[in-house]
Amino acid sequence: MAVERTLSIIKPDAVAKNVIGEIESRFEKAGLRIVAMKMVQLSQEKAEGFYAEHKERPFFKDLVEFMTSGPVVVQVLEGENAILANRDLMGATNPKEADAGTIRADFAESIDANAVHGSDSAASAEREVSYFFSAEEICAR
Ligand code: GDP
Ligand code: MG
Repeated sequence: MAVERTLSIIKPDAVAKNVIGEIESRFEKAGLRIVAMKMVQLSQEKAEGFYAEHKERPFFKDLVEFMTSGPVVVQVLEGENAILANRDLMGATNPKEADAGTIRADFAESIDANAVHGSDSAASAEREVSYFFSAEEICAR
């Protein structure tokens, strides 16, 4: 196992529901540390660039619209196997298919409004962390 960093986003639906703290608590209880964080309102351009890999998908427009519909919390989580650990805590993309006790099962309403984002690989974690944070904004432990 290796110490990794991954990008996590608490999406507009979860921010609106006032469950930021409950979600952060799950990361902390699982041993992941928040080493950078900020609350931001994404512009259309920033959201489109972040989800560029999905540009051709039929849901792209809805996804960008949703991600810009309100503030989000963007953060870097650090810990052993952080990328997979975060994905396990999040649960499946569609909350109806997410395992009981996962963040999406407990807080998400639909596949569009599904509470959280997490990088899905080492390569995407590297790209996504640097998409939002400069090296100086990440507090190394
Ligand atoms: P994730 O890595 O689990 O977030 O899932 P993906 O990277 O595949 O998709 C990015 C985001 O696009 C998801 O979190 C969903 O909010 C949204 N999304 C993915 N697939 C669909 C879909 O089939 N329909 C709709 N409406 N949204 C989707
Ligand atoms: Mg993804």
